[in-house]
Amino acid sequence: MRLFETIKETVTVGQAAEYYGMKIGRNNMICCLFHNDHYPSMKLNTTYYYCFGCGATGDVIQFVANLFGLWCIWTRKLHICTFLLSR
Ligand SMILES: [Zn+2]
Repeated sequence: MRLFETIKETVTVGQAAEYYGMKIGRNNMICCLFHNDHYPSMKLNTTYYYCFGCGATGDVIQFVANLFGLWCIWTRKLHICTFLLSR
């Protein structure tokens, strides 16, 4: 999707995290969003995130979508659309 590509080229994962008020520690580490993390184990790279605790990874779109739990809804809608269009 063109919009997603534009966002990925413009916004880093770290910028998105900061925008949503997350505290970024040394070496761009934050507490993981996907498991009960007491010590920051998620690394924010420029174009993707990676959790050393649970292995969660993805790009800036997935990062923000997961923050709001939207990813499942989006992908489900996409699957439904693909299914309907393929009929
Ligand atoms: Zn994790």
